[in-house]
Amino acid sequence: MNEDEAFEYAKSTLKEERITPYHPHEFEAVNSVESCINCGLCLSHCPVVAAVGIDRFSGPRSIAVELSRSPPEFWSTAEIVYLCTGCGTCREVCPKNVDIPEVVNLIRARIFEHRRDLVPKGLYMVREILTKYNLAFEPWEDKAEKAESRDMRLERLGLPFVQDKNLDKAEVLFYPGCQAEERAQEVREAAKVILDYFDVDYTLLDEMSCCGLPARLIGDNETARSLAEQLKEKVMRLGTKTVVTTCAGCTSNLSDISHNYDWGIPTIHILEFLVEEIGLERMRKAMDKPPELTEVHVTVHDPCHLIKHTSRQIMEHALNILRALPSVRVSESEAYDSCCGGGGLVAYHASDVANAVVKENMKAIQKTGADRLVTPCPLCTAQIESNLFKAGSSVEVDDLTVFIAQRLPKKR
Ligand code: SF4
Ligand code: SF4
Repeated sequence: MNEDEAFEYAKSTLKEERITPYHPHEFEAVNSVESCINCGLCLSHCPVVAAVGIDRFSGPRSIAVELSRSPPEFWSTAEIVYLCTGCGTCREVCPKNVDIPEVVNLIRARIFEHRRDLVPKGLYMVREILTKYNLAFEPWEDKAEKAESRDMRLERLGLPFVQDKNLDKAEVLFYPGCQAEERAQEVREAAKVILDYFDVDYTLLDEMSCCGLPARLIGDNETARSLAEQLKEKVMRLGTKTVVTTCAGCTSNLSDISHNYDWGIPTIHILEFLVEEIGLERMRKAMDKPPELTEVHVTVHDPCHLIKHTSRQIMEHALNILRALPSVRVSESEAYDSCCGGGGLVAYHASDVANAVVKENMKAIQKTGADRLVTPCPLCTAQIESNLFKAGSSVEVDDLTVFIAQRLPKKR
């Protein structure tokens, strides 16, 4: 009996008691809780606690404690765990490396398995779409309308259209993620402009499917596993050496999946690809004759899934690229690395909490005096943009992939 079979057997014997044993993959996170010294650092840094107060969200330290509860007490944790945005700040500041975001996923998975009635209704909508379409967003019904919307966006942004590439084999798989595939199409198109400009041997998937992060956040590990396996098969068939994404969540989730399912293929964000594979020197040369754009004063938002789940180095790359772009002035926001509230699927059932979390960000963005905020994640872009718009702010928001593509000269 291998590890997975042993786990499934133990699970089936405990089903009636509504207990799910820990999978060997979960041991590290579970054991990390034991080392908590109750210092409270996580609590004082948690953006949800800061935004809505401890009465509404009891915070990361209490989540660690919840793990020691037993059913039926355990189910009361549902009121807390679905309000965590999964930003990873608590894990980053914890002196004992307690992995609260992973503990949250683990608790959500048990609630989903045994007490689905406690899963917030908004998350069922996401699951329904995921299981029906293998995407986190309902796809456009009318493909002609989708193309029309894409073309309008490209025209507004001054970006050329590059044909999709669907090759049988390619060095690089460009994986846009569900948001850029079905909603923020300009991000997907901008990445193609960049990859095409630098003659990268890349392909798209002939049929996009979700990386499974939303399923994991709902607690539906079975759907997450099935999506990961589908994706692995597609990636292996293409013989790609690297997966390149434009989404912070996809980058961190695909890196985890690649590790857990032995893909042996790294997933990197396009910013890493630009700096580490294309090189800043080549980029600088390309920018020698940029299109005519007026000077712009920007500030940057660092997505949690990049800096707290993957590597802070990626945003160093972002700053180096911005410094290489002509006519761009960068000012640092005091809350540059603070959660935008868009993670953990919180906005799907408690938008008041998600929108309260982004407020600190918004104040800091306004304070910089920048005309524009740039961030390398379509989900952060949507969350910050809609909140700035509602607040009547004049600050525009751009996905960083789009911002870079706009500054490349036309390819001859
Ligand atoms: S992951 Fe973020 S939101 Fe969740 S408990 Fe930790 S600091 Fe708070
Ligand atoms: S920061 Fe870490 S050690 Fe301190 S209370 Fe939070 S989980 Fe425990």
